[in-house]
Order: sequence, then C-alpha cells, then structure tokens
Amino acid sequence: MISRRKTRKVVLGDKTHGFVGIGGDAPVAVQTMTAGYTWDIDKCVAEINKLSAAGADIVRVAVPEKKDTAALKEILPRVSVPIVADVHFHFQRAMEAIEAGIHKIRLNPGNISDRAQVKDVIQACKAKKIPMRIGVNEGSIVERKDKQKRMKELGGVFSNDKHGHLLAIMIAKLEEYLEIFQAEDFHDIVISAKSIDPELVIAAYKEISQRFDYPLHLGVTHAGPRETGTIRSVVPLGHLLCSGIGDTIRISYASDPVFEVQDGLELLYVLGLRTRVGAELIACPTCGRIQVDLFRLVQDVRKQLEKEIKLPMKVAVMGCVVNGPGECEGADIAIFAGDRRGIIYVQGERVANVPEEEILDRLLAECRQFEQKVKRGEAKLGEKKVDILPPDPIGELGSGWEKIEKERKPLPVIK
Ligand code: SF4
Repeated sequence: MISRRKTRKVVLGDKTHGFVGIGGDAPVAVQTMTAGYTWDIDKCVAEINKLSAAGADIVRVAVPEKKDTAALKEILPRVSVPIVADVHFHFQRAMEAIEAGIHKIRLNPGNISDRAQVKDVIQACKAKKIPMRIGVNEGSIVERKDKQKRMKELGGVFSNDKHGHLLAIMIAKLEEYLEIFQAEDFHDIVISAKSIDPELVIAAYKEISQRFDYPLHLGVTHAGPRETGTIRSVVPLGHLLCSGIGDTIRISYASDPVFEVQDGLELLYVLGLRTRVGAELIACPTCGRIQVDLFRLVQDVRKQLEKEIKLPMKVAVMGCVVNGPGECEGADIAIFAGDRRGIIYVQGERVANVPEEEILDRLLAECRQFEQKVKRGEAKLGEKKVDILPPDPIGELGSGWEKIEKERKPLPVIK
C-alpha cells in the first residue's frame, strides 16, 4: 500500500462537468491533452469526448490564438469533463479562457513572466475560484540568453546532482514565480516540473515535494512515440508514485492521446492507486510449449473485455499447464491452453474444455455470466472457491481430447 504525501487540495470543475480533486484525499487524477486544433470546434468536442470515454479525468486544450479561446464558449457546454487551458506567451489567452468559463489555467513561468500580467491572471482566477498549474518545463524554462550566467550562479546549490544546474534553474524559477502568487494570497496551485530526462524528472519532483505542499502534476515532456515513450514515462512516474509523490499524471506520447489515458490509468491500477474499471487481463508470454495461437487469442480477449466488461474481474489466459495454475491464482476466469484446446475455469471450478476455435466465445460467455452473477450478489470478485486442479496435459489437453469433447456440457444460458 503506497502512502501518499500530504498536500493541499485543489478542486476544478462544476456541476455540469463534474468536480475533480487534485491532491489532499483525492485519488490520483489522469489527464491528457487534445492533439487537434481547439478552434476546430466539432473536432475538438469529439476528441474531448473520446478522451473522456477512455477514462480521462481532466482534458487540456491549447489556446495559442484568440480564435481558440473564442471556441471555448461553444466547446464547454458540449463536453462533460473539466477542461484546462494551456497558456503560453500571451497572458490575454488566460483572461479570455477564464471569461469563457474554463476550469483551470496552466501558465509557464518560462514565457509569461511579467509580474503585472501574472497578477491580472491570478486575480481573475481568484474571482472565479479557478485553480492554476505552474508548469516549469525544462525545455522552456531555461533562459537561453543568460543561461551560462544563471547556471554559474545557481549550479552550486545542487552541485552533487548530475543535473544540478538545470534542477537549480527550475527550482529558482519556480520559487520566483510562486512568490507572485503568495503575495496575492493565491494557493489554488498545482505544480509541475517536466523534463525529457527521467533522472531529472525524479530529482525535480523530489526537491519540490520537500519545499512545497502544493499538489504535483507528474509528467515527462516529449517522451516520444508510445513504443519507446512508455518506458521513458513509466520509469520516473512509477518511481515517484511509489514514493508517494504525485497527485495527477499526464503521460505524453507522439501518438493518439487515448493511449496516454489508457497507460496512465493502467499505471495507477497496477500501483493500487486507483480502483480498476473493467477487467484485468493477465496472460503468459508463450514459449516453445504453446499449441494454440495465444497472441491472437489474448488480443481478441482484450478487445472484447474492454468493450463488454465493466467490473474489475481478473481474467487469465495461459498457454499451458506448466506455470498456469500458479500464475492464475486469484483469477476469476482462467483458461489453460493445450493441443488446439483450452480448459476454462471460473473461480477455480472447471467449466469447459473446448477446441481452439471456440475458446474466445466460451471465455467471453463465462465472463459475461460471471459479471451478471456478481451484480446479482451470487458471486464475489476475487473469491477463490476451490483450488484450481490443473488439467492433465496428455489426456485432457493433448491427444485424449476427443473423449472429453463427447462429455462436454452445453453452455449455460446467460440471463
Ligand atoms: S504458461 Fe506455458 S506456454 Fe505460457 S510461457 Fe508458461 S510454460 Fe510457456
């Protein structure tokens, strides 16, 4: 059980879009960002709704131009999650987004630093109880012109750290910026300090978590495509979350943002930081013992479970009986494959022995039926009724299957 760092709590949203807490006693929230243009209203609404359906708690949109903030008034009534305006360079975009009814503002100290402008945004947010994220991304925080001078001045503060200079600049910039907010007695703040470098991300958030009690938005900037970005993101985010640091996360991929939501949620599920929605699928990696097309079966099962099953039941798809029984321990529904066959179990009880082409349908039918039973109170998730009795690999899953086939019971009718 991960013990989370105590922070202040920030709440964003309204009755129409729901309220989402960040920090305090709120579960870690998953957020993402639209990839399309905000001014393209119908497409933006469709993308936000797709991300919300995938499980995003919060969606951020870019508002580089006035036509983007102008679109917000039409977008907001058509979506059902809190929306954040991502503001860079032009403080007016923040003022326009606040006027349009946005739920949170993100400011970057690296490109909006004029004290009077920041104060205007703070006062506007304060009046409407809108929280703000201060995002000190490594890429945009470093002042290119006086970088050398600033590194010299600040580097010694974290001299033992590999990334000492950059870390020092990020922290110094953050502290300077926070001072403006504190002078205005504004504390509805979330902080982020992203970098492409996992080590710097870990160091920065650890440092910030020791200095401030504001909730933290974790992320790695420019992590790349999903294929490589997953590892780059999950290593630092997983490390920080396991240390109790992090109140909302965004995984950033150069891919469809739906993957950011799916992978962010999965990370929180496996760490026990969120209650799973939908089935959990475990599957063996296969080896030279495999006698069915397990990769295809696993993908087919995954897609169907995602569509059909809402309860967090555990489903195990195992290639053979060698490790299957042990690895299926605790699975509500399990299958062991054999020689073009599979034996299916429901909470340890063997319910079917079917040829390969019937495995998918039968497994899903058992999942649906089990879900209905749980809903009716006739079964409980994760309850082991009996120990799994492994099938006989020769007689039942091998050459003796014809005999079993004759004795197979018909599939029970699902009500
Ligand atoms: S369950 Fe069987 S097929 Fe799958 S990896 Fe383990 S030994 Fe190989």
